[in-house]
Amino acid sequence: MKDLIIIGAGPAGFTAAIYSLRAQLDVLMLEKTGPGGQIALSDVIENYPGYSEISGVELMQKFEEQAKKFGLVMESAEVTAVEDHGEKKIVKTTSGDHECKAVIICSGAKPRKLGVPGEQEFTGRGVSYCATCDAFFFKGKDVASVGGGDTAVKESLFLSKMVNRVEVVHRRDALRAEKIIQEKAFASPAINFNWDSVVTSINGENSVESVTLKNVKDDSEKELPVQGVFVFVGILPNTDFINIVEKDEGGFIKANDKMETSVPGLFVAGDARVTPLRQVATAVGDAAIAATSAEAYIESLE
Ligand SMILES: Cc1cc2nc3c(=O)[nH]c(=O)nc-3n(C[C@H](O)[C@H](O)[C@H](O)COP(=O)(O)OP(=O)(O)OC[C@H]3O[C@@H](n4cnc5c(N)ncnc54)[C@H](O)[C@@H]3O)c2cc1C
Repeated sequence: MKDLIIIGAGPAGFTAAIYSLRAQLDVLMLEKTGPGGQIALSDVIENYPGYSEISGVELMQKFEEQAKKFGLVMESAEVTAVEDHGEKKIVKTTSGDHECKAVIICSGAKPRKLGVPGEQEFTGRGVSYCATCDAFFFKGKDVASVGGGDTAVKESLFLSKMVNRVEVVHRRDALRAEKIIQEKAFASPAINFNWDSVVTSINGENSVESVTLKNVKDDSEKELPVQGVFVFVGILPNTDFINIVEKDEGGFIKANDKMETSVPGLFVAGDARVTPLRQVATAVGDAAIAATSAEAYIESLE
């Protein structure tokens, strides 16, 4: 039986691994796609201390190298369920079951969809949730960028360097992003703002040709000709596989300040938990606490 299983190889997962391996625990990390997590989608990170500018991929390579230096064992598998049998937990995966004493859930989150006509149809053919991944395909074109938070504005800035014009669509009359990012966006001649507006449909024959916008204040509609739509309207937790812990109404896992969930021996860190801020720095902090709490829990069993 393993001491600890870490679910997810993003910033939280690797940090939990570094701390728990240095505490001499016998650790297994399970990851369903590839290492890196969401931040590997980000072209440039300017707010992770120690690096004034670094790409998401490079930062996560450094996390992985550091965890491997302490002997991290990773397995490629999707966790489908976690069972609580008191001092023993069973982690069920697509490639078999694993037994362990404690689990840290670092399964993160994924982008929320708009849920409008045309979105599903054009996903991968004009609709994208990652500017870093797809901006290149829209070189010289006009695109809509939906959302007004940190990620939305940052990604709009990234798009503005590549495309002809970015039409930001935001349901409010002010951005929610950090002030420093807002200032950069307002200064960009390639970014135009459509305030108080929501996308009601994404239109086109074989590819995206326009979006229909509705003004939420006066209900008026207008059609905006664009060849691409980038959606940055929030995130959903990757927590469907675990139904034995308490969650909030959005599906994020509740934890106390020791990162303990409602089930003893199950801990959570990073974007998957209820938290006021979802960033690399917060995921790393959570995971350091979660690993330390898991170590104390495992010791208490002996
Ligand atoms: C486009 C973009 C730009 C961003 N820019 C910044 C930025 O500049 N600065 C910043 O600090 N933050 C940024 N963020 C936020 C940051 O990426 C997240 O806060 C951070 O990645 C959260 O880390 P995490 O480890 O909790 O989760 P994640 O990074 O989501 O990693 C979770 C991992 O768990 C795996 N997983 C999920 N479910 C399962 C399962 N059932 N079985 C096995 N594995 C599973 C996933 O495949 C994934 O690899 C950005 C996010 C995006 C999307």
